[in-house]
Amino acid sequence: MDYLPLFFDLRGQRVLVVGGGIVASRKIEHLLKAQAHVQVVSPELGAELTLLRDTGQLEHLAQAFEPQVLDGARLVVAATDHEAVNEAVSQAAQERGLWVNVVDDARRSSFIFPAIVDRSPMVIAIGTEGSSPTLARRVRTQIEMLLPERLGELAAFASRWRASAKAVFPALPDRLRFWDGFYASPVASQVLSGVLHGADSAMQQQLDAAQSAAATQLGEVYLIGVGPGDPDLLTIRAQQLLQQADVLLYDRLVPQVIIDRARRDAEKINVGKLPGNHEVTQAHINTLLLEHARRGLRVARVKGGDPFVFGRGGEELQLLRDAGIPVVVVPGITAALGAAASTGIPLTQRGVSQSVTFVTATGAQGDSLDWRALAGPLQTVVFYMGVGQLAEVVTQLLQHGLPATHPVALVERATWPDQRVLQGTLGGLLALAQGAVLQSPTLLVVGEVTALGLQAAVAGQQTIKSGGERA
Ligand code: SAH
Repeated sequence: MDYLPLFFDLRGQRVLVVGGGIVASRKIEHLLKAQAHVQVVSPELGAELTLLRDTGQLEHLAQAFEPQVLDGARLVVAATDHEAVNEAVSQAAQERGLWVNVVDDARRSSFIFPAIVDRSPMVIAIGTEGSSPTLARRVRTQIEMLLPERLGELAAFASRWRASAKAVFPALPDRLRFWDGFYASPVASQVLSGVLHGADSAMQQQLDAAQSAAATQLGEVYLIGVGPGDPDLLTIRAQQLLQQADVLLYDRLVPQVIIDRARRDAEKINVGKLPGNHEVTQAHINTLLLEHARRGLRVARVKGGDPFVFGRGGEELQLLRDAGIPVVVVPGITAALGAAASTGIPLTQRGVSQSVTFVTATGAQGDSLDWRALAGPLQTVVFYMGVGQLAEVVTQLLQHGLPATHPVALVERATWPDQRVLQGTLGGLLALAQGAVLQSPTLLVVGEVTALGLQAAVAGQQTIKSGGERA
Protein backbone atom coordinates (compact mmCIF):
# COMPACT_ATOMS: atom_id res chain seq x y z
CA MET A 1 0.00 0.00 0.00
CA ASP A 2 1.54 3.30 -1.09
CA TYR A 3 -1.22 5.61 0.18
CA LEU A 4 -3.11 5.55 3.47
CA PRO A 5 -6.73 6.68 3.25
CA LEU A 6 -7.51 9.15 6.03
CA PHE A 7 -10.54 11.30 6.82
CA PHE A 8 -9.56 14.90 7.52
CA ASP A 9 -11.62 17.40 9.43
CA LEU A 10 -11.37 20.39 7.08
CA ARG A 11 -14.22 22.38 8.56
CA GLY A 12 -13.16 26.05 8.53
CA GLN A 13 -9.60 25.15 7.46
CA ARG A 14 -7.96 27.12 4.68
CA VAL A 15 -7.51 25.14 1.49
CA LEU A 16 -5.76 26.86 -1.37
CA VAL A 17 -6.75 25.92 -4.89
CA VAL A 18 -4.60 27.21 -7.74
CA GLY A 19 -6.60 27.40 -10.97
CA GLY A 20 -10.03 28.75 -11.80
CA GLY A 21 -11.37 26.38 -14.43
CA ILE A 22 -13.56 23.33 -14.58
CA VAL A 23 -10.93 20.97 -13.16
CA ALA A 24 -10.55 23.19 -10.12
CA SER A 25 -14.28 23.41 -9.61
CA ARG A 26 -14.63 19.58 -9.51
CA LYS A 27 -12.24 19.50 -6.54
CA ILE A 28 -13.74 22.57 -4.93
CA GLU A 29 -17.15 20.93 -4.98
CA HIS A 30 -15.79 18.23 -2.61
CA LEU A 31 -13.85 20.68 -0.48
CA LEU A 32 -16.97 22.78 0.07
CA LYS A 33 -18.98 19.70 1.00
CA ALA A 34 -16.34 19.11 3.68
CA GLN A 35 -16.93 22.73 4.78
CA ALA A 36 -13.39 23.88 4.05
CA HIS A 37 -12.56 27.55 3.69
CA VAL A 38 -11.62 27.57 0.01
CA GLN A 39 -9.34 30.22 -1.49
CA VAL A 40 -8.91 30.21 -5.24
CA VAL A 41 -5.78 31.72 -6.76
CA SER A 42 -6.30 32.51 -10.42
CA PRO A 43 -6.24 35.63 -12.57
CA GLU A 44 -9.66 34.58 -13.91
CA LEU A 45 -12.55 32.42 -12.81
CA GLY A 46 -14.78 30.16 -14.88
CA ALA A 47 -18.57 30.47 -14.73
CA GLU A 48 -19.11 27.89 -11.96
CA LEU A 49 -16.51 29.34 -9.65
CA THR A 50 -17.65 32.91 -10.36
CA LEU A 51 -21.08 31.93 -9.10
CA LEU A 52 -19.60 30.40 -5.96
CA ARG A 53 -17.53 33.53 -5.36
CA ASP A 54 -20.51 35.82 -5.89
CA THR A 55 -22.59 33.81 -3.43
CA GLY A 56 -19.84 34.03 -0.85
CA GLN A 57 -18.93 30.34 -0.85
CA LEU A 58 -15.28 30.86 -1.71
CA GLU A 59 -12.64 33.54 -1.59
CA HIS A 60 -10.98 34.65 -4.82
CA LEU A 61 -7.40 35.93 -5.02
CA ALA A 62 -7.31 37.38 -8.54
CA GLN A 63 -3.60 36.98 -9.21
CA ALA A 64 -1.00 34.61 -10.54
CA PHE A 65 0.41 32.02 -8.16
CA GLU A 66 3.30 33.05 -5.97
CA PRO A 67 4.59 31.11 -2.97
CA GLN A 68 3.43 33.73 -0.42
CA VAL A 69 -0.21 32.84 -1.04
CA LEU A 70 0.50 29.53 0.66
CA ASP A 71 0.86 31.21 4.05
CA GLY A 72 -1.74 29.90 6.44
CA ALA A 73 -3.05 27.16 4.16
CA ARG A 74 -3.50 23.62 5.49
CA LEU A 75 -3.87 21.87 2.14
CA VAL A 76 -3.03 22.83 -1.44
CA VAL A 77 -4.52 21.80 -4.77
CA ALA A 78 -2.96 22.71 -8.12
CA ALA A 79 -5.48 22.51 -10.94
CA THR A 80 -4.14 24.68 -13.73
CA ASP A 81 -3.41 23.44 -17.21
CA HIS A 82 0.11 24.89 -17.10
CA GLU A 83 2.61 22.25 -16.13
CA ALA A 84 5.14 24.84 -15.02
CA VAL A 85 2.65 26.49 -12.66
CA ASN A 86 1.57 23.11 -11.23
CA GLU A 87 5.22 22.22 -10.72
CA ALA A 88 5.89 25.52 -8.94
CA VAL A 89 2.90 25.04 -6.64
CA SER A 90 3.94 21.49 -5.86
CA GLN A 91 7.50 22.48 -5.04
CA ALA A 92 6.61 25.52 -2.96
CA ALA A 93 4.00 23.57 -1.00
CA GLN A 94 6.30 20.64 -0.29
CA GLU A 95 9.11 22.97 0.80
CA ARG A 96 6.71 24.35 3.40
CA GLY A 97 5.65 20.92 4.53
CA LEU A 98 2.13 21.36 3.12
CA TRP A 99 0.14 18.48 1.61
CA VAL A 100 -0.39 19.12 -2.06
CA ASN A 101 -2.40 17.53 -4.85
CA VAL A 102 -1.69 18.26 -8.47
CA VAL A 103 -4.73 17.05 -10.35
CA ASP A 104 -4.00 13.97 -12.47
CA ASP A 105 -0.31 14.10 -11.62
CA ALA A 106 0.50 11.64 -8.84
CA ARG A 107 4.22 12.29 -9.23
CA ARG A 108 3.87 15.94 -8.16
CA SER A 109 1.31 15.15 -5.48
CA SER A 110 1.77 14.23 -1.84
CA PHE A 111 -1.89 13.24 -1.52
CA ILE A 112 -4.55 12.17 -3.99
CA PHE A 113 -8.32 12.52 -3.97
CA PRO A 114 -10.25 9.26 -3.75
CA ALA A 115 -13.48 8.51 -5.56
CA ILE A 116 -16.19 9.08 -2.95
CA VAL A 117 -19.46 7.43 -2.10
CA ASP A 118 -21.18 9.96 0.11
CA ARG A 119 -23.90 8.79 2.48
CA SER A 120 -22.74 11.12 5.22
CA PRO A 121 -21.91 10.34 7.92
CA MET A 122 -21.12 7.10 6.05
CA VAL A 123 -18.42 8.03 3.56
CA ILE A 124 -16.52 5.53 1.45
CA ALA A 125 -13.24 6.49 -0.18
CA ILE A 126 -11.99 4.44 -3.12
CA GLY A 127 -8.56 4.73 -4.64
CA THR A 128 -6.18 2.91 -6.94
CA GLU A 129 -3.08 4.82 -5.78
CA GLY A 130 -3.36 6.87 -8.95
CA SER A 131 -3.05 3.89 -11.26
CA SER A 132 -6.57 3.91 -12.68
CA PRO A 133 -9.07 6.59 -11.72
CA THR A 134 -11.50 5.05 -14.21
CA LEU A 135 -11.45 1.74 -12.34
CA ALA A 136 -11.97 3.60 -9.06
CA ARG A 137 -15.04 5.28 -10.56
CA ARG A 138 -16.41 1.94 -11.77
CA VAL A 139 -16.02 0.46 -8.32
CA ARG A 140 -17.72 3.51 -6.89
CA THR A 141 -20.68 2.91 -9.20
CA GLN A 142 -20.87 -0.70 -8.06
CA ILE A 143 -20.79 0.32 -4.41
CA GLU A 144 -23.36 3.06 -5.03
CA MET A 145 -25.73 0.40 -6.35
CA LEU A 146 -25.19 -1.82 -3.31
CA LEU A 147 -25.83 0.80 -0.67
CA PRO A 148 -29.27 1.94 0.35
CA GLU A 149 -29.84 5.64 -0.22
CA ARG A 150 -30.57 6.31 3.45
CA LEU A 151 -27.51 4.54 4.81
CA GLY A 152 -26.24 7.82 6.19
CA GLU A 153 -29.45 8.30 8.15
CA LEU A 154 -29.02 4.83 9.57
CA ALA A 155 -25.45 5.62 10.63
CA ALA A 156 -26.63 8.84 12.25
CA PHE A 157 -29.42 6.99 14.05
CA ALA A 158 -27.00 4.36 15.34
CA SER A 159 -24.61 7.08 16.44
CA ARG A 160 -27.26 8.56 18.74
CA TRP A 161 -27.64 5.15 20.41
CA ARG A 162 -23.96 4.34 20.78
CA ALA A 163 -23.61 5.55 24.35
CA SER A 164 -26.73 3.67 25.53
CA ALA A 165 -25.57 0.46 23.86
CA LYS A 166 -22.15 0.83 25.42
CA ALA A 167 -23.69 1.25 28.85
CA VAL A 168 -25.80 -1.90 28.43
CA PHE A 169 -23.00 -3.95 26.83
CA PRO A 170 -19.67 -2.80 28.23
CA ALA A 171 -17.80 -5.81 26.76
CA LEU A 172 -16.88 -5.37 23.09
CA PRO A 173 -17.97 -8.82 21.76
CA ASP A 174 -21.42 -8.39 23.34
CA ARG A 175 -21.72 -4.92 21.91
CA LEU A 176 -20.69 -6.06 18.42
CA ARG A 177 -23.26 -8.81 18.57
CA PHE A 178 -25.93 -6.32 19.55
CA TRP A 179 -25.06 -4.00 16.67
CA ASP A 180 -24.89 -6.87 14.16
CA GLY A 181 -28.37 -7.86 15.28
CA PHE A 182 -29.53 -4.25 15.05
CA TYR A 183 -28.44 -3.81 11.43
CA ALA A 184 -30.42 -6.91 10.48
CA SER A 185 -33.48 -5.86 12.50
CA PRO A 186 -36.82 -4.31 11.54
CA VAL A 187 -35.79 -1.07 13.27
CA ALA A 188 -32.91 -0.69 10.82
CA SER A 189 -35.16 -1.48 7.85
CA GLN A 190 -37.58 1.11 9.14
CA VAL A 191 -34.91 3.82 9.30
CA LEU A 192 -33.63 2.82 5.86
CA SER A 193 -37.08 3.25 4.41
CA GLY A 194 -37.33 6.71 5.93
CA VAL A 195 -39.89 5.95 8.64
CA LEU A 196 -38.36 7.55 11.71
CA HIS A 197 -41.58 7.77 13.68
CA GLY A 198 -41.46 5.26 16.52
CA ALA A 199 -37.94 4.14 15.66
CA ASP A 200 -36.51 5.34 18.96
CA SER A 201 -38.98 3.48 21.13
CA ALA A 202 -38.52 0.35 19.01
CA MET A 203 -34.78 0.72 19.51
CA GLN A 204 -35.19 0.98 23.27
CA GLN A 205 -37.23 -2.21 23.25
CA GLN A 206 -34.62 -3.94 21.16
CA LEU A 207 -31.88 -2.94 23.56
CA ASP A 208 -33.89 -4.21 26.55
CA ALA A 209 -34.65 -7.48 24.81
CA ALA A 210 -31.02 -7.97 23.83
CA GLN A 211 -29.95 -7.34 27.39
CA SER A 212 -32.16 -10.05 28.87
CA ALA A 213 -31.24 -12.48 26.06
CA ALA A 214 -27.53 -11.86 26.62
CA ALA A 215 -27.80 -13.09 30.19
CA THR A 216 -28.61 -16.57 28.90
CA GLN A 217 -26.62 -16.36 25.68
CA LEU A 218 -25.34 -19.50 24.05
CA GLY A 219 -22.83 -19.09 21.28
CA GLU A 220 -23.26 -20.43 17.80
CA VAL A 221 -21.09 -22.09 15.20
CA TYR A 222 -20.95 -21.46 11.46
CA LEU A 223 -19.57 -24.34 9.41
CA ILE A 224 -18.42 -22.34 6.43
CA GLY A 225 -17.21 -23.75 3.13
CA VAL A 226 -15.09 -21.10 1.42
CA GLY A 227 -14.50 -22.85 -1.88
CA PRO A 228 -11.30 -24.06 -3.52
CA GLY A 229 -9.16 -20.96 -3.02
CA ASP A 230 -10.16 -18.05 -5.25
CA PRO A 231 -11.77 -15.54 -2.86
CA ASP A 232 -14.22 -14.44 -5.56
CA LEU A 233 -15.81 -17.87 -5.24
CA LEU A 234 -16.97 -17.17 -1.69
CA THR A 235 -20.72 -17.09 -1.27
CA ILE A 236 -22.37 -13.95 0.02
CA ARG A 237 -23.47 -15.80 3.14
CA ALA A 238 -19.92 -16.98 3.80
CA GLN A 239 -18.74 -13.37 3.60
CA GLN A 240 -21.48 -12.17 5.92
CA LEU A 241 -20.78 -14.80 8.56
CA LEU A 242 -17.01 -14.33 8.31
CA GLN A 243 -17.64 -10.68 9.10
CA GLN A 244 -19.81 -11.61 12.03
CA ALA A 245 -17.74 -14.28 13.78
CA ASP A 246 -15.81 -13.54 16.97
CA VAL A 247 -13.48 -16.51 16.48
CA LEU A 248 -12.24 -18.34 13.39
CA LEU A 249 -10.92 -21.89 13.35
CA TYR A 250 -9.48 -22.42 9.90
CA ASP A 251 -7.81 -25.16 7.90
CA ARG A 252 -4.63 -25.40 5.93
CA LEU A 253 -6.53 -25.17 2.63
CA VAL A 254 -7.94 -21.73 3.42
CA PRO A 255 -5.88 -18.95 1.83
CA GLN A 256 -4.86 -15.87 3.80
CA VAL A 257 -6.84 -13.55 1.49
CA ILE A 258 -10.00 -15.23 2.74
CA ILE A 259 -8.97 -15.07 6.40
CA ASP A 260 -8.40 -11.36 5.79
CA ARG A 261 -12.10 -10.98 4.95
CA ALA A 262 -13.00 -11.77 8.55
CA ARG A 263 -13.51 -9.13 11.18
CA ARG A 264 -10.24 -7.45 12.00
CA ASP A 265 -10.58 -7.99 15.75
CA ALA A 266 -11.71 -11.63 15.49
CA GLU A 267 -9.44 -14.23 17.02
CA LYS A 268 -7.99 -16.41 14.25
CA ILE A 269 -6.84 -19.90 15.08
CA ASN A 270 -5.06 -22.04 12.50
CA VAL A 271 -6.09 -25.61 13.19
CA GLY A 272 -4.43 -26.92 10.04
CA LYS A 273 -0.96 -27.10 11.46
CA LEU A 274 0.60 -26.32 14.80
CA PRO A 275 3.93 -24.46 14.93
CA GLY A 276 5.86 -27.75 15.26
CA ASN A 277 4.19 -28.89 12.02
CA HIS A 278 1.90 -31.30 13.86
CA GLU A 279 -1.68 -31.66 12.63
CA VAL A 280 -4.21 -30.53 15.19
CA THR A 281 -6.33 -33.57 15.98
CA GLN A 282 -10.05 -33.56 15.31
CA ALA A 283 -10.58 -34.15 19.02
CA HIS A 284 -8.73 -30.95 19.81
CA ILE A 285 -10.71 -29.03 17.17
CA ASN A 286 -13.92 -30.35 18.73
CA THR A 287 -12.79 -29.13 22.13
CA LEU A 288 -12.01 -25.67 20.74
CA LEU A 289 -15.41 -25.49 19.01
CA LEU A 290 -17.31 -26.40 22.16
CA GLU A 291 -15.25 -24.20 24.48
CA HIS A 292 -15.63 -21.08 22.39
CA ALA A 293 -19.32 -21.60 21.66
CA ARG A 294 -20.07 -22.23 25.33
CA ARG A 295 -18.46 -18.91 26.17
CA GLY A 296 -21.24 -17.32 24.11
CA LEU A 297 -19.05 -16.55 21.12
CA ARG A 298 -19.87 -16.82 17.43
CA VAL A 299 -17.42 -19.32 16.05
CA ALA A 300 -16.67 -19.72 12.35
CA ARG A 301 -15.31 -23.13 11.44
CA VAL A 302 -13.78 -22.25 8.09
CA LYS A 303 -13.07 -25.04 5.61
CA GLY A 304 -11.76 -25.29 2.09
CA GLY A 305 -14.31 -26.34 -0.53
CA ASP A 306 -17.57 -27.53 0.98
CA PRO A 307 -17.84 -28.57 4.64
CA PHE A 308 -19.81 -31.70 3.76
CA VAL A 309 -17.48 -32.99 1.05
CA PHE A 310 -14.55 -34.78 2.68
CA GLY A 311 -14.53 -31.95 5.21
CA ARG A 312 -15.61 -33.72 8.40
CA GLY A 313 -18.45 -31.22 8.57
CA GLY A 314 -20.91 -34.00 9.37
CA GLU A 315 -18.98 -35.07 12.44
CA GLU A 316 -18.73 -31.51 13.72
CA LEU A 317 -22.42 -30.87 13.08
CA GLN A 318 -23.29 -33.98 15.09
CA LEU A 319 -21.06 -32.94 17.96
CA LEU A 320 -22.52 -29.44 18.14
CA ARG A 321 -26.12 -30.66 17.86
CA ASP A 322 -25.49 -33.08 20.70
CA ALA A 323 -24.17 -30.18 22.77
CA GLY A 324 -27.28 -28.12 21.96
CA ILE A 325 -25.30 -25.42 20.17
CA PRO A 326 -26.98 -23.71 17.20
CA VAL A 327 -25.19 -24.37 13.92
CA VAL A 328 -25.39 -22.72 10.50
CA VAL A 329 -23.91 -24.66 7.58
CA VAL A 330 -22.76 -22.62 4.60
CA PRO A 331 -22.07 -24.58 1.42
CA GLY A 332 -18.94 -23.87 -0.57
CA ILE A 333 -17.77 -24.74 -4.05
CA THR A 334 -16.08 -28.08 -3.68
CA ALA A 335 -12.62 -28.53 -5.23
CA ALA A 336 -13.89 -30.75 -8.07
CA LEU A 337 -16.35 -28.10 -9.24
CA GLY A 338 -13.80 -25.32 -8.87
CA ALA A 339 -11.24 -27.33 -10.82
CA ALA A 340 -13.73 -28.20 -13.55
CA ALA A 341 -14.55 -24.53 -14.10
CA SER A 342 -11.01 -23.26 -13.88
CA THR A 343 -9.56 -25.89 -16.22
CA GLY A 344 -12.44 -26.19 -18.69
CA ILE A 345 -12.84 -29.91 -18.02
CA PRO A 346 -16.59 -30.62 -17.92
CA LEU A 347 -17.42 -33.33 -15.41
CA THR A 348 -20.20 -34.76 -17.55
CA GLN A 349 -20.58 -34.51 -21.31
CA ARG A 350 -23.19 -36.06 -23.56
CA GLY A 351 -21.92 -39.31 -25.05
CA VAL A 352 -18.66 -39.15 -23.07
CA SER A 353 -19.52 -39.22 -19.40
CA GLN A 354 -22.93 -39.68 -17.84
CA SER A 355 -22.00 -39.72 -14.19
CA VAL A 356 -19.43 -38.26 -11.88
CA THR A 357 -18.10 -39.66 -8.64
CA PHE A 358 -16.18 -37.79 -5.97
CA VAL A 359 -14.04 -40.19 -4.02
CA THR A 360 -11.32 -39.86 -1.48
CA ALA A 361 -8.36 -42.11 -1.87
CA THR A 362 -6.78 -41.09 1.40
CA GLY A 363 -5.67 -44.23 3.12
CA ALA A 364 -6.90 -46.24 0.12
CA GLN A 365 -6.37 -49.80 1.17
CA GLY A 366 -7.19 -51.49 -2.11
CA ASP A 367 -10.37 -53.21 -1.10
CA SER A 368 -12.01 -50.37 0.82
CA LEU A 369 -13.16 -48.80 -2.46
CA ASP A 370 -15.30 -50.38 -5.18
CA TRP A 371 -12.55 -50.20 -7.78
CA ARG A 372 -14.51 -52.23 -10.30
CA ALA A 373 -17.28 -49.61 -10.33
CA LEU A 374 -14.74 -46.77 -10.49
CA ALA A 375 -13.13 -48.37 -13.54
CA GLY A 376 -16.44 -48.62 -15.41
CA PRO A 377 -17.19 -46.88 -18.73
CA LEU A 378 -18.76 -43.48 -19.54
CA GLN A 379 -17.98 -41.80 -16.25
CA THR A 380 -15.74 -39.28 -14.58
CA VAL A 381 -14.06 -40.02 -11.27
CA VAL A 382 -12.52 -37.24 -9.21
CA PHE A 383 -10.07 -38.30 -6.52
CA TYR A 384 -9.58 -36.02 -3.52
CA MET A 385 -6.38 -37.07 -1.86
CA GLY A 386 -2.83 -36.54 -0.91
CA VAL A 387 -0.39 -36.85 -3.77
CA GLY A 388 1.10 -39.85 -1.98
CA GLN A 389 -1.87 -42.05 -2.89
CA LEU A 390 -1.36 -41.72 -6.62
CA ALA A 391 0.52 -44.99 -7.16
CA GLU A 392 -2.16 -47.02 -5.39
CA VAL A 393 -4.94 -45.43 -7.44
CA VAL A 394 -3.19 -46.08 -10.75
CA THR A 395 -2.45 -49.71 -9.88
CA GLN A 396 -6.01 -50.40 -8.80
CA LEU A 397 -7.64 -48.78 -11.83
CA LEU A 398 -5.37 -50.65 -14.24
CA GLN A 399 -5.98 -53.94 -12.43
CA HIS A 400 -9.72 -53.40 -12.58
CA GLY A 401 -9.76 -52.97 -16.31
CA LEU A 402 -9.05 -49.38 -17.35
CA PRO A 403 -6.58 -49.23 -20.27
CA ALA A 404 -3.21 -47.56 -19.81
CA THR A 405 -4.30 -45.08 -22.48
CA HIS A 406 -7.26 -43.83 -20.42
CA PRO A 407 -7.07 -40.02 -20.21
CA VAL A 408 -6.46 -38.35 -16.85
CA ALA A 409 -5.63 -34.90 -15.52
CA LEU A 410 -4.06 -33.69 -12.32
CA VAL A 411 -5.18 -30.27 -11.16
CA GLU A 412 -2.85 -28.68 -8.66
CA ARG A 413 -4.05 -25.71 -6.58
CA ALA A 414 -7.22 -25.34 -8.62
CA THR A 415 -8.46 -21.70 -8.87
CA TRP A 416 -5.34 -20.38 -7.12
CA PRO A 417 -3.21 -17.93 -9.13
CA ASP A 418 -0.54 -20.61 -9.54
CA GLN A 419 -2.88 -23.41 -10.64
CA ARG A 420 -1.28 -26.11 -12.81
CA VAL A 421 -2.95 -28.75 -14.96
CA LEU A 422 -1.14 -31.92 -15.95
CA GLN A 423 -2.76 -33.94 -18.70
CA GLY A 424 -1.80 -37.46 -19.58
CA THR A 425 -2.86 -41.08 -19.51
CA LEU A 426 -3.28 -43.50 -16.67
CA GLY A 427 -0.18 -45.42 -17.78
CA GLY A 428 2.00 -42.32 -17.85
CA LEU A 429 0.56 -40.63 -14.78
CA LEU A 430 3.22 -41.45 -12.22
CA ALA A 431 6.06 -40.29 -14.43
CA LEU A 432 4.12 -37.14 -15.25
CA ALA A 433 3.47 -36.37 -11.59
CA GLN A 434 7.07 -37.03 -10.56
CA GLY A 435 8.42 -34.85 -13.35
CA ALA A 436 6.22 -31.95 -12.31
CA VAL A 437 7.01 -32.18 -8.55
CA LEU A 438 3.36 -32.00 -7.55
CA GLN A 439 2.24 -29.98 -4.57
CA SER A 440 -0.76 -30.14 -2.33
CA PRO A 441 -3.65 -29.72 -2.78
CA THR A 442 -4.13 -31.67 -5.97
CA LEU A 443 -7.09 -33.45 -7.53
CA LEU A 444 -6.93 -36.35 -9.94
CA VAL A 445 -9.62 -36.42 -12.61
CA VAL A 446 -10.00 -39.73 -14.43
CA GLY A 447 -12.09 -39.89 -17.59
CA GLU A 448 -12.45 -39.12 -21.28
CA VAL A 449 -13.65 -35.61 -20.39
CA THR A 450 -10.07 -34.66 -19.56
CA ALA A 451 -9.11 -35.22 -23.21
CA LEU A 452 -11.87 -33.14 -24.79
CA GLY A 453 -9.50 -30.29 -25.46
CA LEU A 454 -11.87 -27.66 -24.09
CA GLN A 455 -9.16 -26.54 -21.71
CA ALA A 456 -7.68 -24.21 -24.30
CA ALA A 457 -10.77 -22.03 -23.87
CA VAL A 458 -9.81 -21.10 -20.31
CA ALA A 459 -7.51 -18.11 -20.16
CA GLY A 460 -4.24 -17.85 -18.34
CA GLN A 461 -3.63 -21.36 -17.12
CA GLN A 462 -0.54 -23.49 -17.32
CA THR A 463 -1.16 -26.89 -18.85
CA ILE A 464 1.48 -29.58 -19.04
CA LYS A 465 0.83 -32.47 -21.44
CA SER A 466 2.30 -35.91 -20.93
CA GLY A 467 5.01 -35.27 -23.51
CA GLY A 468 6.17 -32.42 -21.31
CA GLU A 469 5.27 -29.62 -23.73
CA ARG A 470 3.41 -26.63 -22.31
CA ALA A 471 0.25 -25.20 -23.82
N1 SAH B 1 -13.89 -30.02 1.65
C1 SAH B 1 -12.94 -29.91 0.57
C2 SAH B 1 -12.08 -31.15 0.41
C3 SAH B 1 -11.15 -31.40 1.55
S1 SAH B 1 -10.19 -32.87 1.32
C4 SAH B 1 -13.71 -29.63 -0.72
O1 SAH B 1 -14.93 -29.71 -0.76
O2 SAH B 1 -13.06 -29.29 -1.72
C5 SAH B 1 -8.68 -32.19 0.77
C6 SAH B 1 -8.45 -32.54 -0.68
O3 SAH B 1 -9.25 -31.75 -1.51
C7 SAH B 1 -7.04 -32.26 -1.15
O4 SAH B 1 -6.17 -33.31 -0.83
C8 SAH B 1 -7.23 -32.12 -2.64
O5 SAH B 1 -7.30 -33.37 -3.27
C9 SAH B 1 -8.59 -31.50 -2.72
N2 SAH B 1 -8.50 -30.04 -2.90
C10 SAH B 1 -8.96 -29.09 -2.09
N3 SAH B 1 -8.75 -27.87 -2.61
C11 SAH B 1 -8.16 -28.05 -3.80
C12 SAH B 1 -7.69 -27.18 -4.82
N4 SAH B 1 -7.79 -25.86 -4.73
N5 SAH B 1 -7.11 -27.74 -5.93
C13 SAH B 1 -6.99 -29.06 -6.03
N6 SAH B 1 -7.41 -29.92 -5.10
C14 SAH B 1 -8.00 -29.44 -4.00
